[in-house]
Amino acid sequence: MFLLLSLITCSLLLQGDAQDRASLWRGNDRSGRCHYTFTVPSPTETSCPQVESPDVEGLKARLSLLEVTVSQLGGKGSQPLGGQQGAGSRAHSELQDALNRAVGERNLLQGEKERLERELEGLHLRMEEMRRETERLRSRPCPPQTPVVPPSTPQQDRTPIRSGSSQMSHLMTRPNRQGDSSRLGDSAWQYSAPGFQELKAEVTEVPAPDGNEDNTGCGELVWVGEPVTHRKAENIAGKYGVWMQDPEGVLPYGANMIWRIDTIGTEVRQLFGYDDMEQLSKGFPSKVLLLPDPLESTGATIYRGSLYYQRRLSRSLIRYDLAAEHIAARRELPHAGFHGQFPYSWGGYTDIDLSVDEKGLWAVYSTNKAQGAIVISQLDPNSLEVKRSWETNIRKSSVANTFIICGKLYTVASYAAPDTIINYMYDTETSQGKAISIPFKNKYGYNSMIDYNLAQRKLFSWDNFHIVSYDLRLGRQQAN
Ligand code: CA
Repeated sequence: MFLLLSLITCSLLLQGDAQDRASLWRGNDRSGRCHYTFTVPSPTETSCPQVESPDVEGLKARLSLLEVTVSQLGGKGSQPLGGQQGAGSRAHSELQDALNRAVGERNLLQGEKERLERELEGLHLRMEEMRRETERLRSRPCPPQTPVVPPSTPQQDRTPIRSGSSQMSHLMTRPNRQGDSSRLGDSAWQYSAPGFQELKAEVTEVPAPDGNEDNTGCGELVWVGEPVTHRKAENIAGKYGVWMQDPEGVLPYGANMIWRIDTIGTEVRQLFGYDDMEQLSKGFPSKVLLLPDPLESTGATIYRGSLYYQRRLSRSLIRYDLAAEHIAARRELPHAGFHGQFPYSWGGYTDIDLSVDEKGLWAVYSTNKAQGAIVISQLDPNSLEVKRSWETNIRKSSVANTFIICGKLYTVASYAAPDTIINYMYDTETSQGKAISIPFKNKYGYNSMIDYNLAQRKLFSWDNFHIVSYDLRLGRQQAN
């Protein structure tokens, strides 16, 4: 108790004396001994330092500062800092995505550009080839016309149809719109084989169109009517195209269903279905199918509920089931040229031309082995296998188009001339061909598709945006 009192007294004295320059304090300690204490205020310090050394205090201060800093970094400051980092990360990710997309699009465009350049190169090569061929043909002397029906031969006794010799002249000299005057006569006349000579002599033997018709049988074609226009395509995609009717339609589509494909473009995949001819004329499709693989050319056909077509950039034939809407069969047409190797005279990648007649499914094309001559193959409609083939001596690029009726192939001379002819027929029954001359009109000046349609027993055609048909007559079937 005494000690405590002494300390309080001492403290009071110290506070009281702190105002003075110096003070003296006297008191007893625990053992009772008297102590004198002389106190002088510090000239620089207002209070005494604590027991710890200045270094420790400095460290404490620095530690405190560090704690504040750490607190700012990891404590309250952590949330906004993390948000900034997150936003930065997202922005970086979005930029990376945009960059990836841009690179991908650039690669796609680059690929498309290269493809177009290849196509352009192919077209240039083809143009050059056609130019050389035209020059070569022009430089050749015109073939004599008089020997077609030599007056001194027994042929003279035969009854010519519409003046056989004048038809021959017409066949050989009629120019098409492109000025390729020699091409039309080139198909049958360029060959000097014995068969060719016989072929020329048969030019006058086309059956008469009147009084000898049999529209129910499978005689030879003797007459083609005026073009009847059903519809004009709505846009540029329809400059070329193909239209079809199934002669043996399959549900759910009715027997009158008409199908149409506009074939301009690199990704031709749309198949339009119309309930009948009237709806086609009005332009009201009731069905639009998107084909799984793009097609090429105007050579597609429809048979027994399937669309048959050539896959783009390939010799693959596809059978597409219209009801199930999937590919039912796919097979390569062996050795067939494609993508401009052996097209018809107008081009259009018409290398493979499919059609249907009374005898089934046909493919018209050419091969390297045939050296560009027309090859006819009958196909199995289910498997697309070739059942049998015939090789003609008609160069495919010398004719505008072909169609098959009753197993007989007919070639059209020009795709552009307003008045051209069907100038050749090849019969797969006899494996024989002959020149003929049946007038045929290209009303709109650029006929990209001509096929026999068994359902209507007419020719279907696509002439420069226009969907056209032609009536036809067949002669009596010859007994043989
Ligand atoms: Ca055709």
